[in-house]
Amino acid sequence: MPTLARTSNHRTADLIDPGGAQKSCPSAPAEPGALLIGVVGPEGVVQPIPTRLEIDADFIARASKAGTPEARFRFAGRCVEGKCRQWTGNSCGVIEKVLAGMTDQAIDPAAGLPRCAIRGSCRWYTQRGGDACRACVYVVTDQRADQLAV
Ligand code: SF4
Repeated sequence: MPTLARTSNHRTADLIDPGGAQKSCPSAPAEPGALLIGVVGPEGVVQPIPTRLEIDADFIARASKAGTPEARFRFAGRCVEGKCRQWTGNSCGVIEKVLAGMTDQAIDPAAGLPRCAIRGSCRWYTQRGGDACRACVYVVTDQRADQLAV
């Protein structure tokens, strides 16, 4: 199964607002206070974690022993908008690239919306609704340049 990868390039800070006023980045770096929202499965498809699981420095240290955490897990943090190089001025460019990449590679979107701990505040869901969620399971955050990994 092809997966979509993208760079994590910004800090999270004090993270998730379940009420949604402060938007959440659903592909954030592993930082203390971030939420663990998914685990990358054996075929590169993310298995969502629908409950709120906040990570700490100890989790990051242990996860890092086996490689880059962002290559194996998905984390959510605070959307920093204009402080992120993916910000286009009024929206997140990442989900637009992901959706375009899926179209280009003829990747079928997931059948339904995964259960998700951050839907109330998610930047991508706010921006693209259910289409974002059906693409979300194919996104793997890592430290490399934006690319489609097949
Ligand atoms: S795009 Fe949808 S499934 Fe992915 S993190 Fe946002 S709300 Fe959750």
